[in-house]
Amino acid sequence: MTALVAPNRSIVESLVRQSLFREIGREQPATPAPTLVVNSSARHMHISPENLELLFGKGAELTVHKWLYQEGQFAAQQTVTLIGPRKRIIPNLRILGPCRNLTQIELAITDSIQLGIDVPLRMSGDIEGTPGGYVMGPKGLLEMKHGIIRAARHVHMSPSDAKFHNVKHLDKITLKVDSKGCRTRFDDLIVRVDSSFKLEVHIDTDEANACDLEHATKVELLKS
Ligand SMILES: [Zn+2]
Repeated sequence: MTALVAPNRSIVESLVRQSLFREIGREQPATPAPTLVVNSSARHMHISPENLELLFGKGAELTVHKWLYQEGQFAAQQTVTLIGPRKRIIPNLRILGPCRNLTQIELAITDSIQLGIDVPLRMSGDIEGTPGGYVMGPKGLLEMKHGIIRAARHVHMSPSDAKFHNVKHLDKITLKVDSKGCRTRFDDLIVRVDSSFKLEVHIDTDEANACDLEHATKVELLKS
């Protein structure tokens, strides 16, 4: 990749532009919006190291199936079966890595209907008072007392992206998606700011289908 050895072309262009504007004594035009990535999160599980060992055996570790957009995050090769009331199940529920302190399952509304439970809308990590279920792995059965949620739609941002959009951590913002012949707005997107984050919106599969994200021609963040 040339970008690794030569200066990035857009940086060079921006330097040339800056010096041109200096010479002709004009203000630089407004910075362009940072590139926005919108991804849908399919149903998945986050797991603690203890629960991973319970389900996959002593010394078990997550292995990478596919790297995700956020640095260090991955879909693991390991999957489990989620068992709801009245023996309804969701098979092949994928675990996301790395391990966390907290075991949590994130479902879309369609998944919760399949499972036969009501799933409350929560921020990731806020699982008090949420329903639980049984999780079956190759080496054991885990009883989750609670931890099944529908994850609130959110956007990951670095501090500089947050500054550009004039928002702060836990503010709400709106996502606009233009797709084939229809435009959809998602309000109440929760802003999550961290210096390790890349600019990325996470919506669930129901939301992605509702706006036909697959065929989106333009995505945009608007101040709520
Ligand atoms: Zn996210």
